[in-house]
Amino acid sequence: MSMEPYRRKRSFDKTPEPKGSKKSLLFVVQKHAATHLHYDFRLEAEGVLKSWAVPKGPSMNPKDKRLAMMVEDHPYEYRDFEGIIPAGNYGAGSVIVWDTGSYYPIDDESYELADEKAVVKGIHSGKLLFFLHGKKLQGLFTLVKMAHSHKENEWLLIKLEKDRSVLSKKTLAQVAKQKKAK
Ligand code: MN
Repeated sequence: MSMEPYRRKRSFDKTPEPKGSKKSLLFVVQKHAATHLHYDFRLEAEGVLKSWAVPKGPSMNPKDKRLAMMVEDHPYEYRDFEGIIPAGNYGAGSVIVWDTGSYYPIDDESYELADEKAVVKGIHSGKLLFFLHGKKLQGLFTLVKMAHSHKENEWLLIKLEKDRSVLSKKTLAQVAKQKKAK
């Protein structure tokens, strides 16, 4: 996604907002009517799409913990794949792009914006934190590996509570108060 419209509207010598230099990363969720209907949740990292199959699909409700089975990396070009995987082939059935947009990795300790290295690290450590800017999915999510699962690839996809900054952990009301105090 181009940053040009964002930059055109702002004078960066007059606003404290970031100019932006990092390339945004892409996420995609494909709805896949295979033997069992499921959703494929994919995050761009290292030039490929890190992938999880989510039987019930992602939820915007922080109370829902959705099982997400990590599967093999898919090529980046899979991001806009829609169509029919023919009968007799792996994953036979129809596929649509259910949601897509950019995503921002968040450092799991400092809560600061991170880059795709944090994604690679998070996959190894079993905890990923990221902001989704999709058409349907918006906000802070986590993917956590199930520690006591007998299966190696079982993770949970969970929406975290909204309203708080992931940088300062402040709410809008707290930031507004801060400005008055100056
Ligand atoms: Mn699938």
